[in-house]
Amino acid sequence: AQIDTLDLIVLIGLLLGTFAYFTKGTYWAVQKDPYAAASSALNGAKAGKSRNIIEKLEETGKNCVIFYGSQTGTAEDYASRLAKEGHQRFGLKTMVADLEEYDLDLLDTFPEDKIAFFMLATYGEGEPTDNAVEFYQFITGEDVTFASGATADDKPLSKLKYVTFGLGNNTYEHYNAMVRQVDAALTKLGAKRIGSAGEGDDGAGTMEEDFIAWKEPMWTELAAEFGLEEREAEYEPVFSITEQPDLTPEDPAVYLGEPNLNHLEHAGKGPYSAHNPYIAPIAESRELFTVKDRNCLHMEIDISGSGLHYQTGDHIAVWPTNAGLEVDRFLKVFGLDSKRDTVIKIKGLDVTAKVPFPTPTTYDAAVRYYMEICAPVSRQFVSTLAAFAPDEKAKAEMVRLGNDKDYFHDKISSQCFNIAQALESVSSTPFSAVPFSCLIEGINRIQSRYYSISSSSLVQKDKISITAVVESVRIPGATHLVKGVTTNYLLALKQKQHGEPNPDPHGLTYAITGPRNKYDGIHVPVHVRHSNFKLPSDPSKPIIMIGPGTGVAPFRGFVQERAAMAARGDAVGPTVLFFGCRKSTEDFLYKDEWKAYEEQLGDSFKLFTAFSREGPEKVYVQHRLRENADYINKLLEQKAYFYVCGDAAHMAREVNTVLGQIIAEKRGLTPEKGEEIVKHMRSSGTYQEDVW
Ligand code: FAD
Repeated sequence: AQIDTLDLIVLIGLLLGTFAYFTKGTYWAVQKDPYAAASSALNGAKAGKSRNIIEKLEETGKNCVIFYGSQTGTAEDYASRLAKEGHQRFGLKTMVADLEEYDLDLLDTFPEDKIAFFMLATYGEGEPTDNAVEFYQFITGEDVTFASGATADDKPLSKLKYVTFGLGNNTYEHYNAMVRQVDAALTKLGAKRIGSAGEGDDGAGTMEEDFIAWKEPMWTELAAEFGLEEREAEYEPVFSITEQPDLTPEDPAVYLGEPNLNHLEHAGKGPYSAHNPYIAPIAESRELFTVKDRNCLHMEIDISGSGLHYQTGDHIAVWPTNAGLEVDRFLKVFGLDSKRDTVIKIKGLDVTAKVPFPTPTTYDAAVRYYMEICAPVSRQFVSTLAAFAPDEKAKAEMVRLGNDKDYFHDKISSQCFNIAQALESVSSTPFSAVPFSCLIEGINRIQSRYYSISSSSLVQKDKISITAVVESVRIPGATHLVKGVTTNYLLALKQKQHGEPNPDPHGLTYAITGPRNKYDGIHVPVHVRHSNFKLPSDPSKPIIMIGPGTGVAPFRGFVQERAAMAARGDAVGPTVLFFGCRKSTEDFLYKDEWKAYEEQLGDSFKLFTAFSREGPEKVYVQHRLRENADYINKLLEQKAYFYVCGDAAHMAREVNTVLGQIIAEKRGLTPEKGEEIVKHMRSSGTYQEDVW
């Protein structure tokens, strides 16, 4: 029989599809880890590594795997810390594993003499982190079936012993939903938990202390279960750091901040993703506030020709560069200043240890581009560093800080010190004895920050707007300002773009042209993250948007889109925005733009404002919402979609409560029934939140 071209294409497609299905993408997947491409090519690691965790444990002689589901790096950091502690204190042979890199439908064959940890962050509205989606759906699924064919009725995990800890935020509705649901699912499948299912609360600011308090009794139980004996923990490096006198920073093989091999060799080719950022030009930037001491940036990021696309309501992630001031402080505190441009090669001393950033690199580039050096300090990390203090006095102080929670809070946390500032406060002598491996282990790799896209993809598909308030916080009693890493970097980019005479108003100074000047001409590394925060598909549905401060960002996109639809003749339903800020003359975002949208949308557009510092009483969006209870209820009865964006801690909660009250009052229902209706709106997707 003859096969024509189309048949052939279909056949090849089918074959590839079948291959894809059975290999789960192991063989051709684009390198997922931003650094994997770099490190595997340079370290000669094999491609197509196994997704079988049991095989991996056997091959590497390990008896403990610590899986993590992490979005911002904290769960991953806790996983690494437990791995180290388990090894050093109890002689466990530990490895850390990214949940998305293994097939968890093999868990029913997990050996009895080994242990699995699950460190699970909950993201947004009770969702799994991106790398844990597949595992979560599998393990909590109704008809869970393992690769062996075993189903829930077989109690397939009766041999599995596990430990689990969740990272959550109590200001969100579904607090620590991931760990709760996964723990329940594992138990239901017959697995045995060791220790309690711990829960850390970022909302209360107690994550680190919750983690420390949880792990001690867990270790005791684990040691008893496996007959482990505790030994004197001694620091053992995870990585070898070899200085490379034969290489200079100019050598083309040396990473000076490039995100991965692709960027080193090819100036960054697509496809672009969270693992391969696009170095995007900032087409425009401007200041939105009219006051001198606070800044809010509007930026237009040009994605034309990049292959990136977005939909209204999505997020853009921005990859920051640390401020020069903090890079210098860090290098000085650790005695690395004079050799900042020395090239170093970093290698895992254990086959399972993943080097978190590209190598070879320089100390300067590692600290400037790859490490989250400005983050809050962990008490445990200060304890670890005590062994390398420059003198006995400093050591005693660090031991005390490590052991005394309240003292640590007074001296370090309440001051919002980063690690270098914390050590500066302990001793002015450099901490030159700290192994660089210890710093790589104890400090997260730098994370991108998300911004709710403030433009409509219908109106400007190739330009992404962001609306970002510059973080600059004065801590009562402290001498310094706490400066947000990304937003101050963006501010510096904006100032450079406008040729402002003093581009670094706070002495922060940035390597603004990037590694090898690749960011010159005002570029910033970005990727797009798709979200579920979406306009109704039918534009005639009414929408109610609550967005005070930068919470208005996605709503500028929503209104822009509905105005464009109205302009082209679509029937657009009521479009109602509640905006709040301090003063109409200072921080009223997009004050003039709203008028233009009103012209296009006519009467269907309504803007309610709450200026908290203009009247005798403080007025917030939730007050305006209540004042308009009749109108809101009427719109809800017309099947309006309700959106909330911005501050998760206070505003979003209060708006939720007020809406329940409005529904109850206006419909003559009990308060409980009002709350229930809001809950139902959430689950049916007509109440959506984009909060942070
Ligand atoms: P960071 O350096 O990350 O610091 C953040 C805060 O942490 C500081 O203000 C300070 O209070 C605290 N902090 C920093 N260092 C320390 C320390 N050493 N010790 C103790 N505390 C410390 N923001 C917007 O402006 N607009 C948006 O549209 C927007 N959309 C978002 C959408 C999503 C889905 C999410 C998750 C967040 C969004 N954000 C938005 C927030 C944004 O992602 C960033 O968190 C924010 O801009 C601050 O980033 P930064 O790097 O400047 O600050």
